[in-house]
Amino acid sequence: MGSLTTSAIVLRSIDYGESDRVVTLLGRGTGCLGAIARGARKSQRRFGGGLGLCSVGEAVLRERGGSELLMLERFDVATSFSSLGTDAARMGHAAYVAEVLAKLCAPGQAEPAIFDLAVSLLTSLDAEGVSPTRLRIFELALLAHLGFAPSLDDCAVCGRSDLSIGETIDVRFIPDRGGVVCRACASRGRPMRPVVRVALSNLSRTPLTDAVNVKLPPDVERGCRDALRELIAVHLSAPLRSLEFLSKLENPAPSESRQQGAAGGASGPVRSLPARGPT
Ligand SMILES: [Zn+2]
Repeated sequence: MGSLTTSAIVLRSIDYGESDRVVTLLGRGTGCLGAIARGARKSQRRFGGGLGLCSVGEAVLRERGGSELLMLERFDVATSFSSLGTDAARMGHAAYVAEVLAKLCAPGQAEPAIFDLAVSLLTSLDAEGVSPTRLRIFELALLAHLGFAPSLDDCAVCGRSDLSIGETIDVRFIPDRGGVVCRACASRGRPMRPVVRVALSNLSRTPLTDAVNVKLPPDVERGCRDALRELIAVHLSAPLRSLEFLSKLENPAPSESRQQGAAGGASGPVRSLPARGPT
């Protein structure tokens, strides 16, 4: 490909050697890629705004013969989302978004809709602060773009659609079967309450920018969160490192210590993730 220019988000940036950085970028026209930025920690001219986590800008890249890592020749920052660096909660959400994108998006496969979704999420996060509901909508939209949208309105096995919307719990959520599975088809999996199933279904049709208008009771929000984390974990080879920090934000110290006592030292809602594997 020689050299190319693309809008890109910095998903990961680590120091390398004396003055370089190795970055993972999500390019709008390139998909995920790794690149080395020579002199990035010194050159104000080529990397003026730095290569901070989730910075969005214009990347100029060049192929390096025989190497998987491209050369990042310059990165002109358009938006650095300055509030992310000063607010731990915003940073926690941003780090999670960046890690999910880096791990779920196939290398070198351009997905402009995913890029635009991520920029929209980061823009709202920067301007309005954290919103668990917005993060759920992002996760559902990302999974849909990747072809991993969960079945929520029909049984993922037999397709029946007359699922309970009342008190009766008639489905289990089985991530590796693709979503909800009716009682007749499911022999395993965690029962999912209709109120959580319907909330997820509604969120999957809600634009990211409408997240502020959605109000979910805390227990329903947690149900949606846990289901989506289980679903995302199915597509990963290792647990997301950013979840540890995110779960600390979700369970501040006093309640966290009580929960940890009850859960035998595991870290609250993500305790099932590390043990996940093919079943
Ligand atoms: Zn069924």
